[in-house]
Amino acid sequence: MSDPELLLGQARRRGLRITEQRAIILRALCELDGHASVERVHSRVAREHPGVARSTVYRTLEKLRDLRILSQTDLGRGCDEYEVVTHLPHHHLVCQGCGRVADLDHAYFAFVGDAVCRDFGFKVVLDHLAIFGLCRECQESRGRSG
Ligand SMILES: [Zn+2]
Ligand SMILES: [Zn+2]
Repeated sequence: MSDPELLLGQARRRGLRITEQRAIILRALCELDGHASVERVHSRVAREHPGVARSTVYRTLEKLRDLRILSQTDLGRGCDEYEVVTHLPHHHLVCQGCGRVADLDHAYFAFVGDAVCRDFGFKVVLDHLAIFGLCRECQESRGRSG
């Protein structure tokens, strides 16, 4: 689990004004540990702080994403999910058969950013990608059933 106080310090140094509600939201996200949607963070926060609005959670997570404290990705679950940025970017393989999410090392993508920048002069943000497909188990079970 990430240390919320550390992240709050980081956010403050990057120019974010840390209000009480923002601190509560970031702590909740750290407690959830891993990917969390606005919905999940909000329901966690609401348990102890029912006064915090969903829109405040949404805006705070967006701000933290803009400061690159959090990264945002779409894992195909119908909502964006946020996660604390660690020292190395990480990515995911998302199975469209069973919904399983596996981690994928950044080494698979490190060269893509350089190549795209070289060829298009486009600076890509490659800190949290989801790649969709079928896991081995799902391919095998589909193979058996026809
Ligand atoms: Zn992730
Ligand atoms: Zn699968």
